[in-house]
Amino acid sequence: MPEHSGVTPLADPGLADYHCHPDYSIDARGTVEEFCEAALKRNLAEICFTTHYDANPLSESGVGFIRVDGKMLPVSPDNLGPYVDHVRRAADHYYPLGLSVKLGIEIGWFHGCEEIVEELLGRYKFDHILCGIHELDNICFCCSGSFQKSFSRYSAEEVVEAYFSQAISASRSGLFDCLAHLEYYLKYGLEYYGEGIRAAGRRHFEALFKALIESGTALEVNTAGIRHGLGEYYPGMAMTNDARRAGVNVGHLGSDAHRPDQVGFEFEAASALVPHPVWWHED
Ligand SMILES: [Zn+2]
Ligand SMILES: [Zn+2]
Repeated sequence: MPEHSGVTPLADPGLADYHCHPDYSIDARGTVEEFCEAALKRNLAEICFTTHYDANPLSESGVGFIRVDGKMLPVSPDNLGPYVDHVRRAADHYYPLGLSVKLGIEIGWFHGCEEIVEELLGRYKFDHILCGIHELDNICFCCSGSFQKSFSRYSAEEVVEAYFSQAISASRSGLFDCLAHLEYYLKYGLEYYGEGIRAAGRRHFEALFKALIESGTALEVNTAGIRHGLGEYYPGMAMTNDARRAGVNVGHLGSDAHRPDQVGFEFEAASALVPHPVWWHED
């Protein structure tokens, strides 16, 4: 049975999913075409693929990989080529069928990544560049196998301080269109530290919003928080509301789908939180 067989159409016909991982991401399954078919079935107008690009040479998880034709290759501008070509072919194929397909990428942030990112962005023209903050001091805080090791080094206050400092640096770099899943430390941090970590994070919102606005970097509404059992999106409603009031562009919905049946996940409820695509207002 195809993986999108359980997908139901959204009543809202004009939505876009700007955060999807096809099986070029080693933690995802489902081909670019299977994701596109799911997006059509879900009644989406647009899907943007954002495969992982984790190039931190000091990462304790080791160098990141990309899956190409079933083989695991280290991430590099060359090894990303088949992904770029595949998404572009899908864009040509699906446009006449009523689905806009965009080329994006989720670049894992690390201290000193700017040069590597600039090289990559000089090589390919992406429609959407996401920055994913997944590590603190080179250890993944959002992976089931390493979050305890990561958190054991810090208090809740230190986690949020280190996290927001990276988010501010990423914004100021001006390299990214959007910061992915803000407040991602809540994924395991709520259970590890308790509710206090939310308030600790809030003390850093203002400084981040300033950096986002000055650099023109947006935030996404990432619905994976519901899949992770948080009962909230990333960022949570408090941050989304504060960001809006401050003038930050909260621009896109992203399901962070790692399987075709997760495309447009939770968009029934989340669609009210983002501006609708521009073509809605054209006539
Ligand atoms: Zn991510
Ligand atoms: Zn992602």
